Amino acid sequence: MNQQITVGTCTEILEASMIQMELDAAGIDCDLDNEFTVGVDPLLANAVGGIKIKVSPACVEAATEVLEKYYENKASERAAKAKICPQCKNKDGQPIHKPNWVGILSVLTLGAFTMLYAWPKFSCPDCRNTWS
Ligand SMILES: [Zn+2]
Repeated sequence: MNQQITVGTCTEILEASMIQMELDAAGIDCDLDNEFTVGVDPLLANAVGGIKIKVSPACVEAATEVLEKYYENKASERAAKAKICPQCKNKDGQPIHKPNWVGILSVLTLGAFTMLYAWPKFSCPDCRNTWS
């Protein structure tokens, strides 16, 4: 067995298997490390450094390319989806820039749990709907 090299990490088992499928499709064999630890308790993901995606040294370069493409696609998919208004389907949603003091003030007045509140991140120029 060759020494395997870690080409990436992720914290979600679903994402790990998506990446594994992408690598498979590209003809690259990969192993997942910590897969079971994280599967049993996702909170352990950080403790063990996430799920490690490992390939043989000969495949590192090709695997890195596949990973880069995967993350690029994912980022642009998410960005495209986020900008569509859920109400009128306008595709030109504008990001809302929340001033920092709003966050600080709400934590001071309402407590730290407001950090978990999903603030609207986009607004629609047509129907003035806001969403996150
Ligand atoms: Zn709208």
